[in-house]
Amino acid sequence: MPQALVLEEKGKLALREIDLDTALGPHDVRIAVHTVGVCGSDVHYYTHGKIGPFVVKEPMVLGHEAAGTVVEVGTAVSHLQKGDRVCMEPGIPDPNSRAAKLGIYNVDPAVRFWATPPIHGCLTPEVVHPAKFTYALPDNVTFGEGAMVEPFAIGMQAAFRAKIKPGDVALVQGAGPIGMMVALAALAGGCSKVVITDFAQPKLDLIGQYDTIVPINLGDDNAVERIEAETGGWGCDLVFECSGAAQAILQAPQFVCPGGAIVLVGMPVEPVPMDIVSLQAKEVRLETVFRYANVYDRAINLIASGKVDLKPLISETFAFSDSIAAFDRAVEQRPTDVKLQITF
Ligand SMILES: [Zn+2]
Repeated sequence: MPQALVLEEKGKLALREIDLDTALGPHDVRIAVHTVGVCGSDVHYYTHGKIGPFVVKEPMVLGHEAAGTVVEVGTAVSHLQKGDRVCMEPGIPDPNSRAAKLGIYNVDPAVRFWATPPIHGCLTPEVVHPAKFTYALPDNVTFGEGAMVEPFAIGMQAAFRAKIKPGDVALVQGAGPIGMMVALAALAGGCSKVVITDFAQPKLDLIGQYDTIVPINLGDDNAVERIEAETGGWGCDLVFECSGAAQAILQAPQFVCPGGAIVLVGMPVEPVPMDIVSLQAKEVRLETVFRYANVYDRAINLIASGKVDLKPLISETFAFSDSIAAFDRAVEQRPTDVKLQITF
């Protein structure tokens, strides 16, 4: 039986053998996993045992941000071969679903997503995955970057949903890993400038190292004036709400410009009452983001082209044998950590 990092129940991890379905279908590839990123959702299942309606009821392998090398291909697979370096998209829809037909397979109610109960994740040395959700990595894209495609895909989806126009000025609320991904995707998508806000200065310092990203600490007395000054008082064309904090969500209408858009990326734990009239008075367009669909190829192209550099956001790499330590480190939520990764 294969080894895996198993979440036994809330608060209890084990590196142990577990019985996994490793049968290779004609349209599948078998992949030797090389790098897996530790995601906020993995950590949340570890600390809380559930996310919304998804509850860990039996032992589950964690991990969904993965890159590796193809070691075996199914008989019907033509676009990949043994030895290819790849990354994998963790959500597999029902190919016959109405959502899949419409191209919005991320919102297919039947989607099977790695490390979302009861589906096992990829923190195990080998995985079997549908070839059409497995993407070859160009030679100049590392395994570490390949494993970053998954969180960056959320930034890509936010950029798509925003319908960015060249030269737009964006505000990103929240400089966590996803806020950073959204900021970089917004720039790659044509924004001339991205203002990003948070209370944690180390996070702002990190993302502020990128050109045309303006970090503003919300703890500063004049934070609101500084945000408004970045657009000459008109407001931001786009506000990407990535904090999930009620206070920030309620403030978003203040920062968006007339005719602008608010893109809701962060997920508040509790319902947030919205001031509808403040949105109507500016005819604000509201968009929401749930995972991503059809963005992996473009994300990989942007990374390979050098237009998006995710390497500075990989904070530390742990060996698979130290997976539990990696998760306990993630639980600490050090403000200097963006992405922790595990390698095999
Ligand atoms: Zn993730």
